[in-house]
Amino acid sequence: MWRTIFLALAPNETLRRLLIRSGFGKQFASRFVAGETIGEAMSAAAELTRRGAAAELDYLGEHVTNEAQAAQAASTYLDMLDRIVGAGVETQVSFKPSQMGLELGDDLCYDNCERVVERAAQHNNFVWMDMEGSDSTERTIQIYKKLRASYDNVGIAIQAYLYRSKADVEALIAIGGTVRLCKGAYNEGADVAFPHKRDVDNNFKRLTEVLLSSGHYHAIASHDEKMLNHAIEIASARGLSNEAFEFQMLYGIRRDLQAKLVRDGHRVRVYIPYGEQWYPYLMRRLAERPANLLFLLKAVITEMRAKKRMGLKGASR
Ligand SMILES: Cc1cc2nc3c(=O)[nH]c(=O)nc-3n(C[C@H](O)[C@H](O)[C@H](O)COP(=O)(O)OP(=O)(O)OC[C@H]3O[C@@H](n4cnc5c(N)ncnc54)[C@H](O)[C@@H]3O)c2cc1C
Repeated sequence: MWRTIFLALAPNETLRRLLIRSGFGKQFASRFVAGETIGEAMSAAAELTRRGAAAELDYLGEHVTNEAQAAQAASTYLDMLDRIVGAGVETQVSFKPSQMGLELGDDLCYDNCERVVERAAQHNNFVWMDMEGSDSTERTIQIYKKLRASYDNVGIAIQAYLYRSKADVEALIAIGGTVRLCKGAYNEGADVAFPHKRDVDNNFKRLTEVLLSSGHYHAIASHDEKMLNHAIEIASARGLSNEAFEFQMLYGIRRDLQAKLVRDGHRVRVYIPYGEQWYPYLMRRLAERPANLLFLLKAVITEMRAKKRMGLKGASR
């Protein structure tokens, strides 16, 4: 129920404005978001590099409503890729198709995506395409396939909760694609997605097996120890080295597990979001773990108390 509520609140404009204006919203978001500037994101990536993990930077933004915004988002990624060169930081980049203008047209979105992938290729870097709601899955995959026909430095996220994902994974393997397998973070109906967590987890395990048996490099993106242990078992049964695949996790989530995987010699990449548009990202993280709401409420109460104290002090002056 909480999952549905938070995901339904993700597009809510009033709550978005309220949280963005308030200090506590920002303070809470900092658990999951590295900051608002590229400098802050690069510092977070540098810290990960020191700890033996890699990163992928995500400039927060989605569902842009005009061409200028889409072009601007692509330009931000070009700057980011230029900045990574020579910074001594092991990081790739990740973007959302709707940030590149998917809702304004497939060709326009493709052109913006290609600008980013091409610049990354010039710098010998790699780009990940996030996957959004199921209404955009097919078009996202088509754009990915078109990109993959000309560039091999691009990967795509596939969501284990969708019924269609097994067929998608097989088709992507057939073209030599690189997949980031995740469970899926959007509000989907039972007509397109497994409604029960148990079935999502089983599908995640099945798809992990398909990916790790493919002979190509892929990413397993989860904080679920059962999923990670299963991937390690499959990799070991297939005789894969630790360099043949990577684990991916989100900034601020299960840092203990990130550190353990690094210690055990696995490749770990952490997805680092930054920017001012953190509200929908925050709602998805709350939906995944409603216990996070307690932290948010604590932050709200602390701030209200602090404001009240300051108000009282002001009144006595
Ligand atoms: C690198 C990366 C990229 C992703 N890209 C996409 C994408 O493109 N499209 C998409 O739909 N989804 C994406 N996701 C999100 C993903 O689909 C899941 O929603 C998210 O990872 C939670 O699922 P889980 O596999 O961690 O398992 P869960 O069963 O949800 O969680 C397992 C455990 O992880 C911890 N945990 C999980 N989420 C949180 C949280 N928010 N706060 C605190 N602890 C938590 C808890 O300990 C929990 O018990 C991505 C995830 C990662 C790691």
